[in-house]
Amino acid sequence: MITEARCAGRSRRDFLATAGTGALVAASVASLPGTGHAALPQEAGLPAAKLQPFDMADVTLGEGPFLHAQRMTEAYLLKLEPDRMLHNFRVNAGLKPKAAVYGGWESDAIWEEINCHGHTLGHYLSGCALAYRSTGNRRFRERIDYIAADLAECQKAGETGLICAFPKGPALVAAHLRGEKITGVPWYTLHKVYAGLRDAAVLADSETSRAVLLRLADWAVVATRPLSDAQFETMLNTEHGGMNEVFADLYFMTGNPEYRTMSLRFSHKAIMEPLARARDHLDGLHANTQVPKIVGFQRVYEATGDVKYKDAAAFFWDTVAHTRSFATGGHGDNEHFFAMADFEKHVFSAKGSETCCQHNMLKLTRALFQYDPQVAYADYYERTLYNGILASQDPDSGMATYFQGARPGYMKLYHTPEDSFWCCTGTGMENHVKYRDSLYFHDDRALYVNLFVPSSVAWKAKGAVLTQTTRFPDVPSTTLRWKLQRPTEMALKLRHPRWSRTATVLVNGTETLRSSNPGSYVEIARTWNDGDEVELRLIMEAGVESAPAAPDIVAFTYGPLVLAGTFGREGLAPGSDIVVNERKYGSYNDAPFTPPMLAGDPTTIARTIRTTGKPLEFTIASADQRPIRLIPYHRVAHERYATYWRIAPAADPKPV
Ligand SMILES: [Zn+2]
Repeated sequence: MITEARCAGRSRRDFLATAGTGALVAASVASLPGTGHAALPQEAGLPAAKLQPFDMADVTLGEGPFLHAQRMTEAYLLKLEPDRMLHNFRVNAGLKPKAAVYGGWESDAIWEEINCHGHTLGHYLSGCALAYRSTGNRRFRERIDYIAADLAECQKAGETGLICAFPKGPALVAAHLRGEKITGVPWYTLHKVYAGLRDAAVLADSETSRAVLLRLADWAVVATRPLSDAQFETMLNTEHGGMNEVFADLYFMTGNPEYRTMSLRFSHKAIMEPLARARDHLDGLHANTQVPKIVGFQRVYEATGDVKYKDAAAFFWDTVAHTRSFATGGHGDNEHFFAMADFEKHVFSAKGSETCCQHNMLKLTRALFQYDPQVAYADYYERTLYNGILASQDPDSGMATYFQGARPGYMKLYHTPEDSFWCCTGTGMENHVKYRDSLYFHDDRALYVNLFVPSSVAWKAKGAVLTQTTRFPDVPSTTLRWKLQRPTEMALKLRHPRWSRTATVLVNGTETLRSSNPGSYVEIARTWNDGDEVELRLIMEAGVESAPAAPDIVAFTYGPLVLAGTFGREGLAPGSDIVVNERKYGSYNDAPFTPPMLAGDPTTIARTIRTTGKPLEFTIASADQRPIRLIPYHRVAHERYATYWRIAPAADPKPV
């Protein structure tokens, strides 16, 4: 639990006294990433979350791939120079920049028309705030304070409250507001700045960030006031990130009803209304333009109680997670949703599964789960966390992917440290420093264990610490041990994932429960004593997945993991997978490659998967009986791979 002083930098009691919006504040921060304020009574009429997350400061990560990934991102964040990210903010405010601007989307002419200049600073603030909350390392707090002070200076010099880094400065936004044709996505870019300041205010208690954020919010209220609802809706045809989400958050942070109105005005009705009626109209739409809006719809529901927004968010999640996603949890080709009848035309693209989409789907999944704690959400979270997020980081350089396509024999490509600054570089700064925000959840009586990751969680209201020891996914079991101040009555809810036929629970070495209901929670409610130990045993086995429209194109899985065939690094110069231009995916390292053929019935082929004796390393038999090495996709780096296979018909039986 967070101390009183952590509530937006003031004591909660002071805040209640002055703002009269304590319930709003509590509801707000409970839903923001990484915080875990205890639930207070909600504002009358507003829906209450069924589960609360734990504050990231109360969760520790043990040694393992997630902690490794976190450390790589921490190092990257500390290597970047705030003055270089602030360059164009200062230029636009009429101030002298203190260092040269970074490359890529931040300044390079080839990306000029997208006008994403400045998005990195927003992601960077979010990344530092998440890292600070996760680790308590003051260096992240110092970065935030430095940037917030500089942005405050820019805001003061610029006078209106708008801070931005676009080459034409505020003129771009002004033209957009006037309804003129523009190039670029100014609200998308500004959303990152808003979100970064919000995270800095909430997670790192940065008062300056909060002040800059509120002034930036008030600028938007005034600047958009002349727009009719119809004009506003037309403006939303241009990508605008999660502006509706941020204004709902601002409403929760302040209780100011103007911000709630803004969250509704920033909600794109042309997208929301069909989804609320359970109509999937996503074919052909730009995927990552939509997902953040949908995260915002859920947040607008929380701020208004209007169930249309919840219905839209839940339906979108269901259709994307269950009908439009690859086995890895990613979706889309060349950034767009495609008609699933055309799966075959898209699955082997080098430009599948933009990593930002997975980042944003996990945000949506986490938000929906708290209001409707279904295992289906947690299962999707696990699948995408391993096969999308953990898989996206180069374990050696810490750099991240843009696309994670399934062109057979292609390889993962990562951004450079200083010359790319793609959207996925930005979300990559956040992904790996917030792993601990979704391992555990709780209500008043039960602690939910959603992910099997070495870690511990302090449930301060109960005087309890639960420590999880596991080598999952190398070993399909986990052990949880209570440290308690006194015997305590609580329920432990362990996820029995869909991928495991059974789940067996041992308490202090004695089998007490066996579930044969995959996709449910196994509950053990009792009075726990200090030192009590619970073991959960699951079953991981090889499986096969295909899309209904193309049953001969399959991916092989093992538990929640997608298994990739690996083909070595022949023809790949060291470092040739660290690239500048995300638009050239598919043309980097594009030597022709023919993957080995698999033939016959996919389920029968899956039965040929054999362990090599090394953890999670397998072979599968090709049509010519040569074994192909299979490893979890998230462990593939710097070599050619295949995640999807076109299965040939079984060879004709040999004539007798
Ligand atoms: Zn991206």
